[in-house]
Amino acid sequence: KTLSQGESNTGFAAEIRGLLARLDVPAERYSGGSRIVRTPLTGEVIGEVAEATPAEVTAAVGRAQAAFEAWRKVPGPQRGELVRLLGEELRAAKAELGRLVSLEVGKIISEGLGEVQEMIDICDFATGLSRQLYGLTIASERGDHRMMEQWHPAGVVGVISAFNFPVAVWSWNAALAFVCGDSVVWKPSEKTPLTALAVEALFQRTARRFGGVPDGLLTLVLGGREIGETLVDDARVPVVSATGSTAMGRKVGERVARRFGRSILELGGNNASIVTPSADLDLALRAIAFAAMGTAGQRCTSLRRLIVHEKVYDALVGRLRVVYASISVGNPVTGDALVGPLIDGAAYDAMQQALQAAAEAGGTVHGGERIADAGPAEAYYVRPALVEMPAQAGPVVHETFAPILYVLKYRAFDEAVALQNGVPQGLSSSIFATDMREVERFLSAQGSDCGIANVNMGPSGAEIGGAFGGEKETGGGRESGSDAWKAYMRRQTSAINYGLNLPLAQGVKFDV
Ligand code: NAD
Repeated sequence: KTLSQGESNTGFAAEIRGLLARLDVPAERYSGGSRIVRTPLTGEVIGEVAEATPAEVTAAVGRAQAAFEAWRKVPGPQRGELVRLLGEELRAAKAELGRLVSLEVGKIISEGLGEVQEMIDICDFATGLSRQLYGLTIASERGDHRMMEQWHPAGVVGVISAFNFPVAVWSWNAALAFVCGDSVVWKPSEKTPLTALAVEALFQRTARRFGGVPDGLLTLVLGGREIGETLVDDARVPVVSATGSTAMGRKVGERVARRFGRSILELGGNNASIVTPSADLDLALRAIAFAAMGTAGQRCTSLRRLIVHEKVYDALVGRLRVVYASISVGNPVTGDALVGPLIDGAAYDAMQQALQAAAEAGGTVHGGERIADAGPAEAYYVRPALVEMPAQAGPVVHETFAPILYVLKYRAFDEAVALQNGVPQGLSSSIFATDMREVERFLSAQGSDCGIANVNMGPSGAEIGGAFGGEKETGGGRESGSDAWKAYMRRQTSAINYGLNLPLAQGVKFDV
């Protein structure tokens, strides 16, 4: 069985085959398998991949365990050299891989490229980090004693990723894991196996250049939830990093905790921006448009709630309605539309259900309808929806992974912060203000309760230098920059007695 041909006249399937071939992915990896892959751009079939069996996942973990035992002996800066070379390969393949991301997920071209740039950035960061896996020397209360803290590699890291950042999320985890001395078993989203195959091939290219990379340092396992569960339940995987919905994270977190593993959970967001009376409204408008409609509202950090002061409400929302009515929606690969398709029909149904629930809760819905002539029947293009809500209730407190922006009105600053914090999720947030008191209150301990709090910009579009993640039902994990690397290592505290006596801590006496 080969790839279904002639299903569409767009030629995306042929283009994807060409890109995968150029990236050294063998044709049998993306044709003839049982899992059908479609591009959301047109709904046409672009791949047929073979999925792993649970037994193959178990075997992959075994190989990863053996690879870890060899890799942990390689000095950190040499491990960093592997990641530096990976960054070079990604630079060389940026155009191809970025385009593949756009073709498989439906992102606009510049966002597909941006995702690969993010991979390059984290490789640079991790390369430097490979010489900075610092522990502490700690003053001991006992004479002739020294205490210290060391960071050792953790072991096999299981990475489960979501469809919407099909390659960048892997790199945030894998680049750090590799310099930390860990091996990686990666289960990407079942909706995006082709970009994962391309990344695996780039890694193998890198490994050949490096020489001596243990077999099994990176294993890709394709499949759905069952395959993810096999990885999650394997006691030889001390760290599981899972990115996706809160429903998934709740299951994964519980299963990992049951066997006392560690999980890094990067789950759903319900991100808000507060627009205060002192805001620069021109700047706010541009920022809101990108944060709420960019990536067709399918970023974990997408802006979903806008909390606007009554003094600027009419001015801002009036202008936003114009932008919402006029933004270009369509195929971002063949044209220059800013809003591409939803990932699939299920996402479209969820969006329509949320809009109906919002209307029933008293909301006024602008937009949100399907644009049938933007693509074939199997593609789901929608006009982003702006929904004026009387209160924060119903669908507003849930994450709907689609371009819906709920607008709420506030009078007092504390009310705005209470609304911002009054949802179960805690990923990202922002404030538009030039009044420094309001800015500082928003950033203070009594302000935003999110893992990310921005000023005069939207909640989306993080840089890799900071630790990324959120609180509450977003899962509490942190990835990427700052000291997120510590989650991929195990900490060991050592006390060394270089004297002739044996003083005990806390002055305890035990003379035998
Ligand atoms: P999803 O939860 O449907 O799937 C995510 C991944 O989890 C997939 O690989 C899937 O196969 C796997 N999975 C599902 N159930 C599982 C289980 N029981 N055990 C093991 N693995 C399982 O999410 P999605 O639709 O691919 O992505 C959208 C969601 O991801 C949104 O909620 C979004 O906010 C979230 N997300 C969060 C972040 C973040 O960093 N916080 C980043 C990107 C996406």
